[in-house]
Amino acid sequence: MPDFAFPPAKTTTLPIQDRDVLFPVRRIYCIGRNYADHAIEMGHDPDKEPPFFFQKNPDNADTSGVFPYPAETSDVHHEVELAVALGSGGTDIPESTALSHVFGYGVALDMTRRDLQGQMKKAGRPWEIGKAFERSAPMGALVTADRVGHPENGAITLHVNGDLRQSGDLNQMIWKVPQMIAWLSRFYTLAAGDVILSGTPAGVAAVKRGDRMEAAIDGIGALSVEVT
Ligand code: MN
Repeated sequence: MPDFAFPPAKTTTLPIQDRDVLFPVRRIYCIGRNYADHAIEMGHDPDKEPPFFFQKNPDNADTSGVFPYPAETSDVHHEVELAVALGSGGTDIPESTALSHVFGYGVALDMTRRDLQGQMKKAGRPWEIGKAFERSAPMGALVTADRVGHPENGAITLHVNGDLRQSGDLNQMIWKVPQMIAWLSRFYTLAAGDVILSGTPAGVAAVKRGDRMEAAIDGIGALSVEVT
């Protein structure tokens, strides 16, 4: 077996509440327009346009609590989301058994270069430049499903500098967690280490350097991130 030409990139990991092991991230899937009020604020009709998925890179996940203002944008938005972390996977997973693949849940931010995303949408091009950039997925510690179960409701909020910007409830998700897992597994082979960001409620808006973002989901946890 030949040696590596240079050291392989480090695996991105997430801490786990009350556990002394780490969750190694394999892939990050994100669902778009999964809360009706956010679909409407982005100019879409949630009844006519089914949710869809895109990806971020595993190493875009970041647990440092710091979000450096990214390059080539002047309009970076916060999107607070429930992260669903898988402990196993497969293909063609039925909805009825989908939750058995969930390792745990966490609080995440889907940071978005909205100006670049808008340009790509307009041109009919892929979204990666707006979504899958350095440290674009701040995340908190996971809580295991063993401990918290599979919450179907609970407040999901984001404050910026103490002001409430986003407020919703997990029960407002158009596609529920089992449906997301089942759908994704038709198109991809899901596996342990995959993380699904499950969409954001209304109220997405721009941040600037010096802002403090405080995200929280009832029963799951909280995440505090400074924009630098
Ligand atoms: Mn999002």
